[in-house]
Amino acid sequence: MDSLRAARYPFLRGSAEFAEENGGDLHALVTSPSYEDARKRGVERVESAIRDHTVSDVSLLQEYDRLMEVLSYPYARMLVSTVGDRFLTKRYALSEASRMNYLLQGDLSSVAPIAQELDVNSSIDSEGMINMHFTDYLRFSHVMKASEWKLINTDLRNGFVRLGAEKFDRLLQNALQERIEKELPLNIPPEFKSALGRDVGRVSMLLNETKKQLSPTGGEGMSPDYLPPCIKTILANAQNGMNLPHSARFALVSFLHALGLTYEQIIALFAQSPDFDESKSGYQIRHITGEERGGEGYTPPECATMKTNGICFDPDPLCERIKHPLNYYRIKSGNYQRKDDR
Ligand code: SF4
Repeated sequence: MDSLRAARYPFLRGSAEFAEENGGDLHALVTSPSYEDARKRGVERVESAIRDHTVSDVSLLQEYDRLMEVLSYPYARMLVSTVGDRFLTKRYALSEASRMNYLLQGDLSSVAPIAQELDVNSSIDSEGMINMHFTDYLRFSHVMKASEWKLINTDLRNGFVRLGAEKFDRLLQNALQERIEKELPLNIPPEFKSALGRDVGRVSMLLNETKKQLSPTGGEGMSPDYLPPCIKTILANAQNGMNLPHSARFALVSFLHALGLTYEQIIALFAQSPDFDESKSGYQIRHITGEERGGEGYTPPECATMKTNGICFDPDPLCERIKHPLNYYRIKSGNYQRKDDR
């Protein structure tokens, strides 16, 4: 594989072979002073993923730069694996995949080999359109919410979806993101962990700061004064022993979890109900917060869904400015940093 392609797309099998042919092995990468630049760039990959959801650009003019770039990729993956945080893994996978998408815009010749390596079956027709069997299309487009991605809105002919290059590259992005998320965390040998320690500490610190900033509470714990009216009502009903419909229980627990409350803190709120039974509530809370599945937990529903479910109680004037109950909390608590509401 040519060195520029290897450096641009370091997740390809050929890129790993390129690194091996040039003497890069994992032990040397982690420990040798000769690979200091690759390690620095590996940290940069992860830090820019945390900060900006992207992998920053770097010069790839020299062969040396290209080798360091290829090697920075496994180093970044080792860092992410050692930190072992699901939020970081997802953000990192998204950033690497977005970078690939960005680079493919000006690099048509790499599209086909990358699609093949990512198991995205496709072919180009005489009009230059890319054709995918609809089952493959669904596999990689199911995460896209906009209506233009719905199968019914595509150019579907004889079971094949016809796509322009831009949309196809977007599906490749999804395929790579999914693959990286599945591959991580890697099993890191204990002797590597100590060598990675300083960089892991640096990444963890940035990750914690970023999570704090993203938290609707700014990392300062939940204050009942800032709760939106719907959640206040549902919480009061739960604490008065009322039987909550599933949609209300789900909205309440996922909302509290998004504010950063732990299982113990959420269960403590439910425990104020006169007929509290931890064996019943505990399972549901663990499921919604993701503890039971070892995952991240569910995202709380937006206002439109709350309204559809009949649990948008007593909206006040602030409700007219927001689309998500979490943003109500953010605005009230002064932790709202986005101009656009989501
Ligand atoms: S508009 Fe949204 S935040 Fe306000 S009460 Fe309804 S669901 Fe809750």
